[in-house]
Amino acid sequence: MKDDQLLRYSRHILLPEVDIEGQEAISRATVVVIGLGGLGSPVALYLAASGVGHLILVDDDQVEVSNLQRQVVHDSASVGLSKVESAAQRCQAVNPDVKISCYAQRADSEWLSQQDWLSSEDALNGQVSSDDGLTVIVDCSDNAAIRYAINEVCLQKCMPWVSGAAVALNGQVAVFDPREEGAPCYRCLYPALQDGALTCSENGILSPVVGIIGTTQVVEALRLIVGFGAPQHGYLRTYDAGTGDWQRWKVPARQTCSCQSDYCSG
Ligand SMILES: [Zn+2]
Repeated sequence: MKDDQLLRYSRHILLPEVDIEGQEAISRATVVVIGLGGLGSPVALYLAASGVGHLILVDDDQVEVSNLQRQVVHDSASVGLSKVESAAQRCQAVNPDVKISCYAQRADSEWLSQQDWLSSEDALNGQVSSDDGLTVIVDCSDNAAIRYAINEVCLQKCMPWVSGAAVALNGQVAVFDPREEGAPCYRCLYPALQDGALTCSENGILSPVVGIIGTTQVVEALRLIVGFGAPQHGYLRTYDAGTGDWQRWKVPARQTCSCQSDYCSG
Protein backbone atom coordinates (compact mmCIF):
# COMPACT_ATOMS: atom_id res chain seq x y z
CA MET A 1 0.00 0.00 0.00
CA LYS A 2 1.36 3.39 -1.01
CA ASP A 3 1.91 6.28 1.44
CA ASP A 4 -1.04 8.29 0.19
CA GLN A 5 -3.27 5.25 0.60
CA LEU A 6 -1.95 4.61 4.12
CA LEU A 7 -2.95 8.19 4.89
CA ARG A 8 -6.32 8.04 3.13
CA TYR A 9 -7.33 4.80 4.85
CA SER A 10 -5.56 5.44 8.17
CA ARG A 11 -8.79 5.51 10.20
CA HIS A 12 -9.71 2.07 8.85
CA ILE A 13 -6.20 0.74 9.37
CA LEU A 14 -6.26 1.96 12.99
CA LEU A 15 -9.16 -0.38 13.66
CA PRO A 16 -7.87 -3.78 14.83
CA GLU A 17 -10.95 -5.31 13.13
CA VAL A 18 -9.81 -3.96 9.75
CA ASP A 19 -6.05 -3.25 9.88
CA ILE A 20 -3.89 -3.32 6.72
CA GLU A 21 -5.10 -6.79 5.74
CA GLY A 22 -8.72 -5.71 5.89
CA GLN A 23 -8.07 -2.55 3.90
CA GLU A 24 -6.21 -4.61 1.28
CA ALA A 25 -9.17 -6.99 1.08
CA ILE A 26 -11.42 -3.96 0.50
CA SER A 27 -9.10 -2.70 -2.24
CA ARG A 28 -9.20 -6.10 -3.99
CA ALA A 29 -12.97 -6.44 -3.73
CA THR A 30 -15.53 -5.89 -6.47
CA VAL A 31 -18.90 -4.59 -5.36
CA VAL A 32 -21.85 -4.45 -7.72
CA VAL A 33 -24.38 -1.79 -6.74
CA ILE A 34 -27.72 -2.44 -8.41
CA GLY A 35 -29.82 0.71 -8.32
CA LEU A 36 -28.45 4.24 -7.77
CA GLY A 37 -31.45 5.72 -6.01
CA GLY A 38 -32.07 6.33 -2.32
CA LEU A 39 -30.27 3.20 -1.09
CA GLY A 40 -27.65 3.11 -3.84
CA SER A 41 -26.59 6.70 -3.12
CA PRO A 42 -25.01 6.12 0.31
CA VAL A 43 -23.95 2.62 -0.71
CA ALA A 44 -21.92 3.89 -3.69
CA LEU A 45 -20.51 6.88 -1.79
CA TYR A 46 -19.36 4.90 1.27
CA LEU A 47 -17.96 2.06 -0.82
CA ALA A 48 -15.97 4.58 -2.89
CA ALA A 49 -14.77 6.43 0.21
CA SER A 50 -13.84 3.10 1.83
CA GLY A 51 -11.56 2.30 -1.11
CA VAL A 52 -13.29 -0.67 -2.69
CA GLY A 53 -11.19 -1.84 -5.66
CA HIS A 54 -13.86 -2.05 -8.33
CA LEU A 55 -17.27 -0.46 -8.07
CA ILE A 56 -19.81 -1.59 -10.65
CA LEU A 57 -22.84 0.68 -10.92
CA VAL A 58 -26.02 -0.55 -12.60
CA ASP A 59 -29.19 1.50 -13.19
CA ASP A 60 -31.25 2.30 -16.30
CA ASP A 61 -32.84 5.46 -14.88
CA GLN A 62 -32.14 9.20 -15.20
CA VAL A 63 -31.94 11.70 -12.35
CA GLU A 64 -35.20 13.59 -11.72
CA VAL A 65 -35.90 16.54 -9.41
CA SER A 66 -38.13 14.36 -7.20
CA ASN A 67 -35.13 12.07 -6.52
CA LEU A 68 -33.04 14.78 -4.88
CA GLN A 69 -34.94 14.71 -1.54
CA ARG A 70 -33.10 11.46 -0.67
CA GLN A 71 -30.77 10.32 -3.48
CA VAL A 72 -27.75 12.17 -2.12
CA VAL A 73 -25.18 10.96 -4.63
CA HIS A 74 -26.94 13.12 -7.26
CA ASP A 75 -27.32 16.89 -7.21
CA SER A 76 -29.36 19.56 -8.95
CA ALA A 77 -26.84 19.82 -11.79
CA SER A 78 -27.26 16.08 -12.54
CA VAL A 79 -30.98 16.24 -13.36
CA GLY A 80 -31.42 14.56 -16.75
CA LEU A 81 -28.14 12.65 -16.56
CA SER A 82 -28.11 8.89 -16.27
CA LYS A 83 -27.96 7.90 -12.61
CA VAL A 84 -24.88 5.73 -13.18
CA GLU A 85 -23.01 8.59 -14.84
CA SER A 86 -24.00 11.06 -12.14
CA ALA A 87 -23.05 8.64 -9.33
CA ALA A 88 -19.77 7.66 -11.02
CA GLN A 89 -18.68 11.31 -11.30
CA ARG A 90 -19.34 11.95 -7.63
CA CYS A 91 -17.75 8.69 -6.43
CA GLN A 92 -14.67 9.22 -8.60
CA ALA A 93 -14.31 12.73 -7.16
CA VAL A 94 -14.49 11.26 -3.64
CA ASN A 95 -11.86 8.64 -4.39
CA PRO A 96 -9.81 8.57 -7.62
CA ASP A 97 -8.30 5.17 -6.58
CA VAL A 98 -11.53 3.31 -7.22
CA LYS A 99 -12.11 1.70 -10.60
CA ILE A 100 -15.71 2.45 -11.56
CA SER A 101 -17.69 0.67 -14.28
CA CYS A 102 -21.11 1.97 -15.33
CA TYR A 103 -23.99 0.04 -16.86
CA ALA A 104 -27.00 2.16 -17.81
CA GLN A 105 -28.92 -1.07 -17.89
CA ARG A 106 -31.68 -2.89 -16.05
CA ALA A 107 -30.18 -5.73 -13.98
CA ASP A 108 -32.57 -8.43 -15.23
CA SER A 109 -31.70 -12.11 -15.05
CA GLU A 110 -30.50 -12.26 -18.68
CA TRP A 111 -28.05 -9.41 -18.16
CA LEU A 112 -26.90 -10.70 -14.75
CA SER A 113 -26.18 -14.17 -16.08
CA GLN A 114 -24.02 -12.71 -18.88
CA GLN A 115 -21.61 -10.89 -16.57
CA ASP A 116 -18.25 -12.59 -16.22
CA TRP A 117 -17.56 -10.91 -12.87
CA LEU A 118 -20.12 -13.40 -11.64
CA SER A 119 -18.58 -16.53 -13.07
CA SER A 120 -15.07 -16.98 -11.72
CA GLU A 121 -14.11 -20.54 -10.87
CA ASP A 122 -12.97 -19.34 -7.48
CA ALA A 123 -16.37 -17.93 -6.71
CA LEU A 124 -17.99 -21.15 -7.92
CA ASN A 125 -15.95 -23.09 -5.41
CA GLY A 126 -16.66 -20.60 -2.70
CA GLN A 127 -12.94 -19.96 -2.44
CA VAL A 128 -11.30 -16.75 -3.44
CA SER A 129 -7.57 -16.77 -4.00
CA SER A 130 -5.47 -14.13 -2.30
CA ASP A 131 -5.05 -12.26 -5.60
CA ASP A 132 -8.74 -12.11 -6.45
CA GLY A 133 -10.93 -10.17 -4.13
CA LEU A 134 -14.43 -11.09 -3.15
CA THR A 135 -17.33 -10.03 -5.36
CA VAL A 136 -20.43 -8.89 -3.47
CA ILE A 137 -23.73 -7.64 -4.89
CA VAL A 138 -25.60 -4.93 -2.99
CA ASP A 139 -29.21 -4.75 -4.08
CA CYS A 140 -30.56 -1.20 -3.97
CA SER A 141 -33.10 -1.71 -6.72
CA ASP A 142 -36.51 -1.27 -5.07
CA ASN A 143 -37.77 -3.98 -7.44
CA ALA A 144 -38.89 -7.48 -6.44
CA ALA A 145 -38.25 -9.09 -9.83
CA ILE A 146 -34.64 -7.86 -9.80
CA ARG A 147 -34.18 -9.19 -6.23
CA TYR A 148 -35.28 -12.66 -7.33
CA ALA A 149 -32.95 -12.44 -10.34
CA ILE A 150 -30.02 -11.47 -8.08
CA ASN A 151 -30.93 -14.30 -5.70
CA GLU A 152 -30.87 -16.87 -8.50
CA VAL A 153 -27.58 -15.69 -10.00
CA CYS A 154 -25.92 -15.53 -6.56
CA LEU A 155 -27.05 -19.10 -5.83
CA GLN A 156 -25.74 -20.30 -9.18
CA LYS A 157 -22.40 -18.50 -8.80
CA CYS A 158 -22.13 -18.98 -5.05
CA MET A 159 -21.80 -15.27 -4.30
CA PRO A 160 -22.90 -13.35 -1.21
CA TRP A 161 -25.26 -10.41 -1.51
CA VAL A 162 -26.90 -7.78 0.66
CA SER A 163 -30.57 -6.99 0.21
CA GLY A 164 -32.10 -3.69 1.28
CA ALA A 165 -35.51 -2.05 1.00
CA ALA A 166 -37.15 1.07 2.37
CA VAL A 167 -40.56 2.68 2.08
CA ALA A 168 -42.40 5.31 4.14
CA LEU A 169 -40.91 5.09 7.68
CA ASN A 170 -39.66 1.50 7.41
CA GLY A 171 -36.68 -0.34 6.08
CA GLN A 172 -35.06 -3.75 6.12
CA VAL A 173 -31.67 -5.34 5.47
CA ALA A 174 -30.84 -9.01 4.94
CA VAL A 175 -27.58 -10.76 4.05
CA PHE A 176 -27.53 -13.95 1.99
CA ASP A 177 -24.37 -16.02 1.69
CA PRO A 178 -24.73 -19.22 -0.34
CA ARG A 179 -21.10 -20.11 0.47
CA GLU A 180 -22.40 -21.16 3.92
CA GLU A 181 -23.85 -24.66 4.03
CA GLY A 182 -27.58 -24.69 4.70
CA ALA A 183 -27.87 -20.90 4.41
CA PRO A 184 -31.31 -19.51 3.52
CA CYS A 185 -31.84 -17.54 0.31
CA TYR A 186 -34.17 -14.66 -0.53
CA ARG A 187 -36.78 -17.13 -1.76
CA CYS A 188 -36.69 -18.89 1.64
CA LEU A 189 -37.70 -15.53 3.14
CA TYR A 190 -40.17 -14.51 0.43
CA PRO A 191 -41.23 -17.67 -1.48
CA ALA A 192 -43.41 -15.82 -3.98
CA LEU A 193 -43.32 -12.42 -5.62
CA GLN A 194 -45.67 -10.19 -3.67
CA ASP A 195 -48.22 -8.27 -5.73
CA GLY A 196 -49.08 -4.80 -4.59
CA ALA A 197 -45.79 -4.25 -2.77
CA LEU A 198 -45.45 -0.73 -1.42
CA THR A 199 -43.44 1.73 -3.51
CA CYS A 200 -41.83 5.03 -2.57
CA SER A 201 -43.48 6.79 -5.53
CA GLU A 202 -46.95 5.86 -4.20
CA ASN A 203 -46.35 5.82 -0.44
CA GLY A 204 -43.56 8.28 0.12
CA ILE A 205 -40.30 7.80 2.00
CA LEU A 206 -38.71 9.72 4.85
CA SER A 207 -35.39 10.88 3.38
CA PRO A 208 -32.89 9.62 6.01
CA VAL A 209 -34.51 6.16 6.20
CA VAL A 210 -32.81 5.26 2.91
CA GLY A 211 -29.55 6.56 4.42
CA ILE A 212 -29.92 4.34 7.48
CA ILE A 213 -30.73 1.26 5.41
CA GLY A 214 -28.11 2.01 2.72
CA THR A 215 -25.29 2.62 5.18
CA THR A 216 -26.26 -0.58 7.02
CA GLN A 217 -25.96 -2.41 3.69
CA VAL A 218 -22.42 -1.02 3.29
CA VAL A 219 -21.48 -2.23 6.79
CA GLU A 220 -22.66 -5.70 5.75
CA ALA A 221 -20.80 -5.60 2.42
CA LEU A 222 -17.58 -4.60 4.25
CA ARG A 223 -18.22 -7.27 6.90
CA LEU A 224 -18.40 -9.89 4.11
CA ILE A 225 -15.19 -8.54 2.55
CA VAL A 226 -13.14 -8.00 5.72
CA GLY A 227 -14.75 -10.58 7.99
CA PHE A 228 -15.00 -8.48 11.15
CA GLY A 229 -17.45 -8.98 14.01
CA ALA A 230 -20.33 -11.45 13.96
CA PRO A 231 -21.61 -12.70 10.59
CA GLN A 232 -25.09 -11.42 9.78
CA HIS A 233 -26.02 -13.74 6.92
CA GLY A 234 -29.29 -15.50 7.44
CA TYR A 235 -30.75 -12.60 9.43
CA LEU A 236 -33.37 -10.05 8.48
CA ARG A 237 -33.17 -6.75 10.31
CA THR A 238 -36.05 -4.30 10.22
CA TYR A 239 -36.04 -0.63 11.15
CA ASP A 240 -39.06 1.48 12.07
CA ALA A 241 -38.39 5.23 12.13
CA GLY A 242 -41.79 5.71 13.77
CA THR A 243 -40.74 3.92 16.97
CA GLY A 244 -36.99 4.17 16.40
CA ASP A 245 -36.68 0.40 16.84
CA TRP A 246 -34.47 -2.13 15.07
CA GLN A 247 -35.47 -5.78 15.23
CA ARG A 248 -33.51 -8.82 14.10
CA TRP A 249 -35.06 -12.05 12.87
CA LYS A 250 -33.41 -15.36 12.02
CA VAL A 251 -34.40 -16.48 8.52
CA PRO A 252 -34.80 -20.25 8.47
CA ALA A 253 -33.85 -22.13 5.30
CA ARG A 254 -36.90 -23.76 3.70
CA GLN A 255 -36.14 -27.41 3.10
CA THR A 256 -38.44 -27.31 0.03
CA CYS A 257 -36.58 -24.35 -1.50
CA SER A 258 -34.35 -25.06 -4.49
CA CYS A 259 -31.44 -23.36 -2.70
CA GLN A 260 -31.25 -26.36 -0.37
CA SER A 261 -30.29 -28.75 -3.20
CA ASP A 262 -26.92 -28.75 -4.88
CA TYR A 263 -26.13 -25.20 -5.95
CA CYS A 264 -22.95 -24.55 -4.02
CA SER A 265 -21.67 -28.05 -3.33
CA GLY A 266 -18.85 -27.43 -5.82
ZN1 LIG B 1 -33.97 -20.71 -0.48
